[in-house]
Parts: sequence; C-alpha cells; structure tokens
Amino acid sequence: MDRFFAQLDELLKRLHGAGYGGYKRLQGRVFRDRGLELRVIHVQADPFAPPSTVAVRVERDRADLPAWAFANSVRRVACADFIHRNLARLARQWAKPLGTGRSGEIDVPRPAQEVLQRSTVTVFDTGDVLVRLGVGLPATGRRVRGREAAELLCHVLPRLVLEATVRGEIDLGALRTHVETVEDATWLREQVTAAGLVAFVADGAILPRRSGVDDRPMGADEAVPFSSPPSLRKEFELPNRGKISGMAIPAGVTLIVGGAYHGKSTLLRALERGVYNHVPGDGREFVVADATAVKIRAEDGRYVAGTDVCNFIAELPTGADTTHFVTQSASGSTSQAAAIIEALEVGAKCLLIDEDTSATNLMVRDARMQRLVPGEYEPITPYVDRVGYLFRQLGVSSILVVGGNGDYLDVADRVICMREYRPIDVTEEARRVARELPTGRVPVRRPWRSIRRRLLVPETIDPSRGRKACAVRARGRGALEFGSELLDLAAVEQIVESGQVQAIGLALARARELLPLARMSPGECAVQIESLIREQGLDWLDRAGRAVLSEFRAHELAAALNRLRSLRTRPAD
Ligand code: ADP
Ligand code: MG
Repeated sequence: MDRFFAQLDELLKRLHGAGYGGYKRLQGRVFRDRGLELRVIHVQADPFAPPSTVAVRVERDRADLPAWAFANSVRRVACADFIHRNLARLARQWAKPLGTGRSGEIDVPRPAQEVLQRSTVTVFDTGDVLVRLGVGLPATGRRVRGREAAELLCHVLPRLVLEATVRGEIDLGALRTHVETVEDATWLREQVTAAGLVAFVADGAILPRRSGVDDRPMGADEAVPFSSPPSLRKEFELPNRGKISGMAIPAGVTLIVGGAYHGKSTLLRALERGVYNHVPGDGREFVVADATAVKIRAEDGRYVAGTDVCNFIAELPTGADTTHFVTQSASGSTSQAAAIIEALEVGAKCLLIDEDTSATNLMVRDARMQRLVPGEYEPITPYVDRVGYLFRQLGVSSILVVGGNGDYLDVADRVICMREYRPIDVTEEARRVARELPTGRVPVRRPWRSIRRRLLVPETIDPSRGRKACAVRARGRGALEFGSELLDLAAVEQIVESGQVQAIGLALARARELLPLARMSPGECAVQIESLIREQGLDWLDRAGRAVLSEFRAHELAAALNRLRSLRTRPAD
C-alpha cells in the first residue's frame, strides 16, 4: 500500500487514543514526499467542528501536466476548475465515516456549472498545483483515532489528490476540451463586445435546466436546441473550436416576446449566466453576454442606502428626498429603480429585465391609467420612457422580456419572439403593429438628471460581532452573515455559488483598511476591490488560507454592499 509522509504517519499513530487536542500539534506543520507537500493549515477544535484545512501542493514534475494546460491565466483557471471537479467527485465516492461527528470526511465544495477561479485548486504558471480541502480528523468521542488519521492523511488524501491531478490518472482529452472551451468562450465574449453586440447565443445551445433547483442541462430527449433566426445569425471563428454560428444581439433595446411558457425567461436566464463561462456539456458553453450585464429585478422589502432614484421616482407623498433615497423597506418599484441606478454606478452596459420579476408600475403606465391618475400625482417615470435615453445617451443596452405589454414596441430596436422555444425575428411586424395601433400613451418627458454621487460612511461597514473582529460567513448562495447582520442575497441572481458570497463578505470586511472609503461611492469601492483582487488573486482576501472562495464581479459585491442594512451614505455635494 502506497503511503506518503512517513513522519506524519508515525506522529499520528503515536497520537492514537490521546485527547482530541493532541491534533493541535499538527497545526502549521509541513510534510514533503515524492513531489507532494502537505501543509496543515488549521486543526478543528473537536470532531463536530467544520473539518480541518489541509493544503496539498503537487509539484510540477509530479503533476506533469501538459504545458498547454497552464499556458495562460484563462487556461490555468479552467485547468484548476477541471481538477476541482475531479476532486469533488472522488471525495464524494470516498465518503467514509471514520468515527464521531465529521471524522473521516473529505470536504470539497461542490462547484456550480460555471467555471470560476476558486481557492480550492490553484494551478500556477510553473505547472505546480495547490489543492486545499477540508479533512475531518478522526476520533471516537474526543479520543484521537490515530491509525485512521494516518490512513486518511498519508494514504487516502494523497491518492485522491494525485488521481484528480496528475497526467496518467486524469482524462487528458477531457482536460483539453475543458481548457479550450473556456478559452473559446472568453475570447467569444471579448469579440462579441468588440463587434458592438451585447449577447450571443450559439446555435445548438441547450438553455433549459433540469429543474428550478438543478442547474444541469435538461435532457436531450426533451430540450429544444437553440437555433438563431436567419436575420440575427452571425458567425465567429473561435481560436480552438473554429467556426460557430448563433444569434447575435446588438447593443440597443431588445425585446423578447412570446406566449406564456414558450421559453422567454429561460433565454433571459441563460443570458444572465452568460457573464460567466460554463463547463463543457452544460449547453451554455457559447452563450455569452457583455461582461458587465446585470439582472435587474424588483425586490420589495430590501434596504436602500441613499441611492438616487429620482430619474424613476421624482417625489414621494412622504416628501422623502429621492435623490438620496433611504428606506428600510423599499416597494417593488423603488427597489427596482434602485437596482437600475446601482448597476449604472458600477458601470453596467447591459441591463436584463424579466417581466416575471418586475414591478409593473415601474415598467410602464398605459393611456387609461394616465387619464385616470394625472401626471402630477404619479411620481414614476416608467422604464419605457427611459430605456431609449439609457442607450442613446449613456450607452446602456436593455434586453427585456415583455409578454404582456405592447407599449414597449414603440421603443424597441428589435423584437425577438419565442415560439415553442424557437426565436423568430419579428422586428418588422412589431414596427407595423406599433404604427397601425397607436397606444395613445403620452410619454413622460422629465429630463434625465445625472446621478447624484454618494459617499460611504466607512464605520457603518462593520464586520465585527461581540469580541470577534471579523464575523463573516456565507450561508449558501443566498445569504451572508456579516457582523451582526444577516444579509439576504437571494434576489442577487447572478451570484452562483456560496464561495462568491464568502469572498464578497471578506472583501467587504477588508474594504475599510484597504481603501479611502469616505471618499468613495459604493460603486467605486466595488470596482476598486475587483481590480485589486484581479491583481493580487483571491487568496489575498484570506491570509489564514482557510476560507472557501470563488471569484465574483464588482456588480455582485456592490449588490451586497448596497443591501447592507447598517450602511449609511451621504450625498457628495
Ligand atoms: P416563459 O418565460 O416564456 O413563460 P419559460 O422560459 O419559463 O417560459 O419556460 C417554460 C418551460 O419551458 C420551463 O419549464 C422550461 O424549462 C421549458 N423550456 C424552456 N426552453 C426550453 C427548450 N428550449 N426546450 C425545452 N423546454 C424548454
Ligand atoms: Mg417567464
């Protein structure tokens, strides 16, 4: 039986039967053997606590990965993602309880369908691979099971890491596909933007998912593959895969219309995720959106910390200042207006909106309602009267799902109709309908006012709780414990996994020491942090090396910051 780290092996066997605290002796220790280096980063306090953190470095000669797998940073992220998925699968197969509580557990976070930089696996430009995972150090009650621990750390774990990582063990063909697909998608997104487009959906793409809680693709027997309308079809030549064709959505105002259940929301959801790359076989590998695209939705009850919503909501019956709008409980329309402005503050160039999750009164107000409730009693300038300005003056495109409201036909640059999951270009028809059937609606003509800048009040971003200076913990994909607050992120739909939430939390916790926050807006803070992390790497957020982190965009960081109920801002002028 192949055993590694003889010294560790011996040490663990000697600990057999000792109190659990005996394991603490391992903390910080490093063991080397035949191209592997095992480092014990943190030892859990008891067998029920979250598993201990262990890092294993596989040296380049041992890993022997082909040079193409780590030739550039995009390929390194893809390669690491591939190894991560191998590890997650092998760890699940291992799952063997070795005593009390979490004894024997090998804990590898389960990745979403998106390919992201993560702290679990790092592939370096030297070809070295660093793997970080949780190991439940075995015990019976509070007694160390040293023999089992030796088996786990000196045999099972190195075996598993090697099997997930090294040439000869891994499927090189699959790795190649993984790396090339991710590189192609990254390249495609850049080309799409350079060509003046905001999104691209490849012919043959599978957009629907297995279920609302299962993000894997719908089975081939059921799913209708995507097929572009001829008028919107465009070809790209990908660096690895060669030619692909698909539907190109130019910058501007695009409507997705069609009957209920014909696949409108499914298309929009694929575009939301199109800011990320996907694993081969996902079906959305070559569905890409502008990297700054943001999903906008209503979220009544959310907190708003001084966002200037006056371009959508002029004055409220309460007399509240809507250029510095603060509320502990926004309505549907004010929450959606805030989301739009906050996205612009971070530099979004494309907004994605679905009627299913929108506040109707923010989106439109029809002729009859205009007559019944005169303009002076209606503070809202609906999105339909801003969408054109947003594009033409601010360069911000919109892709909107509207199945129920024809008023948008007047402002659309193009209209895509989903019919039995197939898109049809109905732009000409829509123009004719708009001409022949005027709505009688009078556009609201309030001039657009430049967005009022607001500055952070730094001490209101406080990650401490009791004696703990930094109490930050992701609760799955949809919530973050931040100091004494539980931050609800369920409506921030472009967060795809809990590692992103954890990374966002740590980034916010460190923002005060890193940046002159008192002179920054939430959006500026988010953009700065994003670029700092791009320079320094994710690990830089976590000096202890224990956290499970995934990369995130400035948009999602800003979304979290803007929802923090303790946050205060002040107008810059
Ligand atoms: P809409 O927003 O137009 O009402 P949805 O996008 O919610 O429709 O889709 C309705 C249902 O059809 C969903 O269950 C979805 O999974 C399924 N669906 C969507 N696109 C496809 C497709 N291309 N092939 C098969 N089923 C699909
Ligand atoms: Mg829908």
